[in-house]
Amino acid sequence: MRLAQMRIPLRGAPLARIRRTLARLDQARRLAVIAALRGDLASVAADWPPDPLAQVWAACIASRNLPLHPEAVLLASVGRDRYGRSHWLQPAAAGALARLRTVAMADGIALEVVSSFRSVHDQRRILARKLTAGQTLADILRVNAPPGCSEHHSGCAVDLAVPGQAPLTEDFAATPACAWLRRHADRFGFHMSYPPDNPWGFMHEPWHWCFRDRSVRMPVARPE
Ligand SMILES: [Zn+2]
Repeated sequence: MRLAQMRIPLRGAPLARIRRTLARLDQARRLAVIAALRGDLASVAADWPPDPLAQVWAACIASRNLPLHPEAVLLASVGRDRYGRSHWLQPAAAGALARLRTVAMADGIALEVVSSFRSVHDQRRILARKLTAGQTLADILRVNAPPGCSEHHSGCAVDLAVPGQAPLTEDFAATPACAWLRRHADRFGFHMSYPPDNPWGFMHEPWHWCFRDRSVRMPVARPE
């Protein structure tokens, strides 16, 4: 089915508009549109407004050989965190995470999602907020990826925490929860992306786990 026949002029449209349009379609038409747009979605995700730091990000991406991660379009809810924030992952990753958390809980391990899908726009806002707060670019880029390069854009990455404990600290590496993940997460398709001395120059992030599976390569739309 061709886009022109469907009278949905989405090619080159902003990602937010594509998401809104896809949310109104039934499943069969949505998948047809996604298939027709597939080649375009990666470029749409990278099509952020002019960024004064674009050259800084480009230099970082080149020097560290960072891969680009296109934004997911279709996302499924994985619940709320301790702050009441909603979290979203690509459907296959969401299903795998639910299975992982159920089995972990049966072993006495509670895992809380504290970060999940994040748009390129949100990544820019995080970086800008840290710069405004006085952090240096070098420090920020050891912890955060440049816009377009965060695995969180893909809708496959989660930051996990122990309920009630401070999230996103290296202390997580010493918890029974992290030990359980190291032993079992790969059975569910999740891998620690940034171990110590990882080749991309990010700090050790024992809390950051990414789902990798062929079935999630097809870009899919968040219900809005
Ligand atoms: Zn993360």
